[in-house]
Amino acid sequence: MTGNSQFIPVQAPADTSITIGELLQNAAAIVDRIDARWLLQSILNTDAAYLIAHADRSPDVDQINRFRQLLARRAAGEPVAYLTGAKGFYDLVFEVTPDVLIPRPETELLVEMALAKIPADRECNVLDLGTGSGVIAVTIAKHRPEACVMAVDLSARAIAVARRNAEKHAVKNVVFIKADWFSHFTAEKFDVIVANPPYVAEGDPHLEEGDLRFEPIAALTAGRNGQDCLRSIITQTPDYLVPSGWLMLEHGYDQAAVCHELLGETGFTRLFTRTDLAGIDRVTGGQYG
Ligand code: GLN
Repeated sequence: MTGNSQFIPVQAPADTSITIGELLQNAAAIVDRIDARWLLQSILNTDAAYLIAHADRSPDVDQINRFRQLLARRAAGEPVAYLTGAKGFYDLVFEVTPDVLIPRPETELLVEMALAKIPADRECNVLDLGTGSGVIAVTIAKHRPEACVMAVDLSARAIAVARRNAEKHAVKNVVFIKADWFSHFTAEKFDVIVANPPYVAEGDPHLEEGDLRFEPIAALTAGRNGQDCLRSIITQTPDYLVPSGWLMLEHGYDQAAVCHELLGETGFTRLFTRTDLAGIDRVTGGQYG
């Protein structure tokens, strides 16, 4: 101790003495424990291991205040992904904003199915319809550097998010276009077309629950029975596929049958449906001609 130790503040302001462990403990009273961890990780710009290893450290006042604000918003229902601005999908982490749907794990199945049809060693033209945050297009482009991926969305704000995601992952083989489904294209032909379109019925009670309340409604609903976009995509696709090209669609739990019917009527063969990890019919597709 030096002679002037009396000038050193001995007591830190109350808020700065609270530890990571205590903050998480208190947070568990109002939000899910894992959600609280995600929020604190994002504020401290760290990972779960750090929170455990340094449970006795105290964040600074600004970080504590920001954490408390996010906790209050989470307690009011806002999705964790919108509060942290990030969501993991497949093997990458993507930026998300309230302008785009939050990537769902079941959509990874669509990516897997598409990757199975896209050769790794030669050029292949791929189109992603209704790209949103760009997760499908960017993940495919990243895993298939030889592929040429185009992605469209009606929302300029979504396109901006998608472009940032391509940049974040240094993906150069994807182009984003603001357009209404195929409206931008004339003579273009694709080898593989994928889409996770809006497929929820207007007025579906689930829209009033959980994260869906905060997501862009235009990315979720498609007419009275949720089939409008699936129908529109399936019937227009033949003009934009090469002979033997594939179309693959994510859809709702009860829409595999209608997709099969529409694909069959439109001239698709080798129809398939795959279930997601919850055992629900989730992706249907077929080959044209
Ligand atoms: N799977 C989403 C849901 O939770 C809907 C996504 C979509 O419409 N494409 O309802």
